[in-house]
Amino acid sequence: MFAPVSTLSSTPSPPDPVASDPSAPDARAATTGESASTAAKALAAAGDLESARDVSALDDAALHAAQRLGRKQRSLVERLIYGWLPSTEELRSGAVAHQSATHRGQAAVEQAIACLQRGEAFTADGKLSAALRAAVAAEKAYGFTVPAEFGGLGGRYQELALTEEELAANGLGALAVELSGELTIGAGSLLAYGTDAQKRTFLPLIAEGQLMAFGLTEVGIGVNAKKVRAYVEPDAASGGFRLFADGDRNKLWITNATHGALVGIVARIGKDGRQVGLFVTRLPERDLSPADGVDFEFRCTPSGVDAFQPNFNSRIHCKNLPIDKGGQIQADGVEVLFYCLRMGRCMLAAMAAGYQRMFAVDAAQYARTREGVGGLVVRHELPRLALGRMLGGALQSRALSHLSLQQDQQGVDLAGLRDLTKSAAATSALESLVACERVIGGRAFDRTSRVSAARANMHVFGVVEGEDDLILMGMVKDVTGPFTDRYLAGLLGVIQSINTDADGKPVAAEQRLLRITPRTLFAEPRRVWQATARLFGQPSFWRLCLWIAGNGLLELVRLPGLLLPSAWIPRYQLLPVPLRRLLRKAERRLRWLRWAWLGINLWFQLELTRAQIPLQRLGKVIEHLVSVVVLCHHGSHQDQSQQRVAALQCELLLQKVKALPLLLGLRQMERLRALVAAVGRDVERGESSLLAGITPQPLAHPFETAPQRERRG
Ligand SMILES: Cc1cc2nc3c(=O)[nH]c(=O)nc-3n(C[C@H](O)[C@H](O)[C@H](O)COP(=O)(O)OP(=O)(O)OC[C@H]3O[C@@H](n4cnc5c(N)ncnc54)[C@H](O)[C@@H]3O)c2cc1C
Repeated sequence: MFAPVSTLSSTPSPPDPVASDPSAPDARAATTGESASTAAKALAAAGDLESARDVSALDDAALHAAQRLGRKQRSLVERLIYGWLPSTEELRSGAVAHQSATHRGQAAVEQAIACLQRGEAFTADGKLSAALRAAVAAEKAYGFTVPAEFGGLGGRYQELALTEEELAANGLGALAVELSGELTIGAGSLLAYGTDAQKRTFLPLIAEGQLMAFGLTEVGIGVNAKKVRAYVEPDAASGGFRLFADGDRNKLWITNATHGALVGIVARIGKDGRQVGLFVTRLPERDLSPADGVDFEFRCTPSGVDAFQPNFNSRIHCKNLPIDKGGQIQADGVEVLFYCLRMGRCMLAAMAAGYQRMFAVDAAQYARTREGVGGLVVRHELPRLALGRMLGGALQSRALSHLSLQQDQQGVDLAGLRDLTKSAAATSALESLVACERVIGGRAFDRTSRVSAARANMHVFGVVEGEDDLILMGMVKDVTGPFTDRYLAGLLGVIQSINTDADGKPVAAEQRLLRITPRTLFAEPRRVWQATARLFGQPSFWRLCLWIAGNGLLELVRLPGLLLPSAWIPRYQLLPVPLRRLLRKAERRLRWLRWAWLGINLWFQLELTRAQIPLQRLGKVIEHLVSVVVLCHHGSHQDQSQQRVAALQCELLLQKVKALPLLLGLRQMERLRALVAAVGRDVERGESSLLAGITPQPLAHPFETAPQRERRG
């Protein structure tokens, strides 16, 4: 369960941001990754070289993962905004696949529930029991997606999603978490990047139920995955490697990692090497040090998190730990992570669906039997709304996860959909937890309640597999990227070009213009005229004018169509009546987002490399609208009770969209950004008086800060 940040900036790049920069060597280093990430170039052009370097490195890894996936069709989300409307068959394909998927994990789910009912699923200290693991391993749950030739079940991810959801819905979310880690990134990384020998060695072990973890996060690094500091050195004696993950290079919060488990460890090749590798190894059966007669140190201790309590979650210390040569995966470790994350995100959504059904079932039982003020709780509107939220969140998470899985199987680029699927599922799961607490009241906090046991997991779902807001910003960049590069890059290149003096050297940072506003016209008339003249010489500017004219015309032509009732339009006739209006509205709003993105770019210009609030807001709007589209299609394939849930959830989502104005909210966002900047500055400088006089609690897992490291040399 990981959270690397992919691409944070969505601003297009100027044509050559480093051409005349005296800091060019640095800037070039920051932006000359193979992918020459446009976001990274824009950051460099805006003078933020540190972010440019980080983003460029991560973008490279993401790009290589995408190339390996080799997608045949453009992302669905991009087409919903910029293309012709995708066919209803495509939009329904997830629901169809969900309905026709065989529940191959049913036997494992039944065994697990039987174990739970016998009181054997958890140990006295609340951990998953050996009996439970053995029971589901016998049904090949740990090898669910491992091909039969390696001893697995040979199941599909769609089928695994059904199993994950059922386990979570029945109070066995912890087992679902364990299986998801084992299969999406454990077996998944070996299947995609392992050699035949590696597959033959490790996959049968996974299939029989041996745990596999993936260790990327360190005490010193989190979301900035490319900065891992654990490293390997060649071991001349064995021909293999020695792993150094000591001090704040310790691997932290590693799910499924325990003594004797398999683990894929992400580590730099050579202490100061640029390459980040991935090494599959088996952890020693116990903590060891030179006092035990070995020439290395190894410790695996619980990481002490409240989430994933029943699972293994560890901090791993290694110094000079031998790694077999055969364990090296021939790929960049972060690329492997990006490749596997898409499945991890879909499985998280399936689990979120299950958790929300569990909340709903417990809340419904309580509300149907408990007398509140003026009758049973279930008779009142607000508890009903809360129940609707839980059911709606469950259906939304399920619909998104199955459409994503189907799209992946059909070779459609998952950019956008995989991200919003995860974010929507994690957000709705947390909202459902709160809704459940409102209905059940005090008992939801009982130490024995499964709602209570799930609480920390619902919070952590928003952090692992990509922190929600960061991945939403990455999604905006991905789905708007082609438009941005084609129509806006030249425009912003012009702004960057006026930030250089007559000798081609960049102007001082305080004179740098990140955006041209009417005020700049008076303050810097010469540079504004210069920019205007250059703009007219840019082919992409004229392309943009044509795009505006063409698309504006198209909107005009479409305008009378708005008067047609949905019942007359074949696309919506297929849907149950209550869902038609909602789907039509969401599709229309999604198309309008092309104008919102243009407006945001024209307003913020290069400043958009720093303006996270508008990017996150746009990302959230896309998430809600795509969810409505997917829910309508999914709901239309279900019974009437689910159609009613879908209609309610869509209405709630559209109300959220209304509260997130984009073009009409530009000034409001400016005000908000200014206020945020002011408060943030105070906090950064330690000048916030509300914080004065209170000693912060020392952090768990303390790490060396960058200045401390520099001082140490
Ligand atoms: C229960 C649990 C299980 C986990 N399992 C695994 C595992 O199996 N394997 C593994 O490798 N890792 C695992 N992780 C690690 C998890 O992926 C990390 O928590 C995650 O990478 C975030 O790292 P961090 O907590 O150190 O946050 P940091 O990297 O310190 O970031 C702190 C905050 O700053 C934000 N932030 C950082 N940069 C920016 C920016 N440019 N703009 C805006 N916001 C920014 C982040 O979003 C975050 O909210 C697990 C964590 C937990 C809690």
